[in-house]
Amino acid sequence: MPTLRLPPLPNIREILKMYHLRAMKQLSQNFILNENLTDKIIKKAGILSDCHVIEVGPGPGGLTRSIIKREPKKLIVIEKDKRFKPSLEMLTDAFAAVNGKMEIIFDDVMTFHMENVLPSTETKTWTDKCPRIKIIGNLPFNVSTPLIIKWLRAISEKTGPWKFGRTRMTLTFQKEVAERLIAEPLDTQRCRLSVMAQAWTQPILHFIIPGTAFLPKPDVDVGLVTLVPLTVPRTKHEFAIFEKVTRHIFSFRQKYSIRGIETLFPLEYRTELGQMMYKLADLDPQRRPMTLTVEDIDSLVSAYKYLLEKYPNLKFYEYRTSRHIVSLSQTKNIEVIECTN
Ligand code: SAM
Repeated sequence: MPTLRLPPLPNIREILKMYHLRAMKQLSQNFILNENLTDKIIKKAGILSDCHVIEVGPGPGGLTRSIIKREPKKLIVIEKDKRFKPSLEMLTDAFAAVNGKMEIIFDDVMTFHMENVLPSTETKTWTDKCPRIKIIGNLPFNVSTPLIIKWLRAISEKTGPWKFGRTRMTLTFQKEVAERLIAEPLDTQRCRLSVMAQAWTQPILHFIIPGTAFLPKPDVDVGLVTLVPLTVPRTKHEFAIFEKVTRHIFSFRQKYSIRGIETLFPLEYRTELGQMMYKLADLDPQRRPMTLTVEDIDSLVSAYKYLLEKYPNLKFYEYRTSRHIVSLSQTKNIEVIECTN
């Protein structure tokens, strides 16, 4: 694939030295210095020419350079640490010299509204092919799991960058997290994250990057994953309720899955309503959490919703946090009974 020639620039190691940039642990800073590796990562993001690319956490700009070489229509980088301003500005100038557009935003990716920096002209319908928008990042470990959960919710609601259609993401995760994202039923790594990711996207693990490729070297290896939002999600339910049921199922990983499901209900109704859920979903209550498919969990959520409709007071029950049992009585006077649970 042909790549753009940039004006001569110091390499990332030289930049770190020039600007006295030491990695900050609290921002999960682990830099990639090897340009062959950053090129290889960016290649997995697919065609970038004609695309608006958002890079999360550019740091000194190693991956950023490899993105620029692939000539995106516009590159927007979101970085929390302002110490990287001079090195990122150097890249902005180098890209501008060949008529490229790069915008630097200093903000927190957890709260930043990406949709505000993307043009509505790139909007595609959900069932169309993916829009010419890509999210790329060597993510900071400390935010990668909450961030992907937040983004999966946004995908389910078609908000944020998913307002524009099925925006693809190519991101790094701690190796174990990457393996969880792609874990199929019966895989020992199967967990809540696998089910949530696979309900709304197709996650693809490209390769593992050894920790030695980063400076400083993290204690773990890293996996590069692309998540492609599904045209038709594998669940018809809203994110919040699907997440709640999935979380309960995996709260007792080694037990029969009904153990976690029972905790959706107040103690005195647990056995009865738990069994009822499995009957309604037409599933064996002795199935272990890691054997359940997304579709099995979808059926359990349908069953749970049915019970919520039948016994509306159940929605007030929260396992552990709740100090109350709410009566299943559907009379107008809601009876709340103190409980030791
Ligand atoms: N992209 C660079 C590379 O590959 O060498 C740096 C990657 S480093 C693992 C993660 C980067 O994310 C750091 O530059 C860090 O400052 C930035 N970062 C950490 N938390 C962030 C947040 N909440 N919002 C935006 N950037 C963040």
